[in-house]
Amino acid sequence: MSQRLGFDRVSKIFEGTGDDADFVAFDDITLEAAPSEFLAVVGPSGCGKSTLLRMAAGLMVPTRGQVVLDGRPVVEPPPGVIYLFQQYAKSLFAWRTVIDNVMFPVESAPRARRGELRAQCRDYLRQVGLGGFEDKYPWQLSGGMQQRVAIARALAADPQVLLLDEPFSAVDALTRMELQTLVLQLWERRKFTAILVTHDVEEAIFLADRIAVLGARPTSLREVIDVGLPRPRDQFATREDPRFLKLRHHITTTLLTGNDGHVASA
Ligand code: ADP
Repeated sequence: MSQRLGFDRVSKIFEGTGDDADFVAFDDITLEAAPSEFLAVVGPSGCGKSTLLRMAAGLMVPTRGQVVLDGRPVVEPPPGVIYLFQQYAKSLFAWRTVIDNVMFPVESAPRARRGELRAQCRDYLRQVGLGGFEDKYPWQLSGGMQQRVAIARALAADPQVLLLDEPFSAVDALTRMELQTLVLQLWERRKFTAILVTHDVEEAIFLADRIAVLGARPTSLREVIDVGLPRPRDQFATREDPRFLKLRHHITTTLLTGNDGHVASA
């Protein structure tokens, strides 16, 4: 079961210390991900994408406005809203085996269910291509494999909303494409609501149903774009589709110019 997650007129101000002025990270953002939708948020580094996701996860409260999950304001981390971090290496427990990392979200389940849950977690590892690696430690795996462990652990937590914070930015280009395809396949199977923040325009187009484009500081919502490319998507066919290229041109120009797609003449 997936859930609806929205930002309702959200602003975030970080209070300055000493002589530093207050810092307005966002101003008046209204945006909603429908149940089972894949929403991407793009914007330059430092524009506040992670801050937006932290508020969605209930890890930080907005200064004004509210985050709403299925009609209820988010005031603390809601169960079912799972955060997939960019720094997978830091989010995994180095002293636990791969299977014990994946088991972590279900550890408080009754003892009688442990066998069944362990089998399920082994299956999640197979789904992310890590069958046979259950008894390794994270540090014995490559970066891409570690992020796969983090994805399997997110699946074990039964996400209704999956928040993806630049989850592929620390791996090489080919691994990044493999992980994007993996996340798409899992999303198509499980149909959780997905919110991805990224500075990578192509990644956003490849994955998302809609893309929210954030603008210059204080960050506001510039535009929300329907991607409209057919699914299932393919790393080659989709990226070579003329509609993909047109969207890439439009969004990149918007980000570069701050002018809604119209490049100022030189
Ligand atoms: P992005 O994810 O787009 O790179 P962030 O959300 O990490 O951006 O940060 C947006 C801005 O908010 C940055 O300029 C950052 O320095 C500032 N910021 C983030 N968290 C805090 C905080 N807890 N206190 C003060 N400033 C913060």
